[in-house]
Amino acid sequence: MAPPPPLTPLIFLGGAVLLGGVTALWVYYDRRDRRWQDAERRKVTFHCIRCDTIHAELVGTETAVCPQCGQVNARLKF
Ligand SMILES: [Zn+2]
Repeated sequence: MAPPPPLTPLIFLGGAVLLGGVTALWVYYDRRDRRWQDAERRKVTFHCIRCDTIHAELVGTETAVCPQCGQVNARLKF
């Protein structure tokens, strides 16, 4: 059995580091996207009955003040 060429462990190490880096990046972006989607899902849409503006507030808000005209609007129900 011939001994492995001296570069083989380095190539293996480089491949492992690269793979680890890619995996770390993938996990990072995946988590960031999920956080963003969760934030979007926690929003409720409001429609201003006075000036027709559509605006979003956090979930749990039943009434919201219109950013355009100050009219207090009830939550949109679908
Ligand atoms: Zn308005």
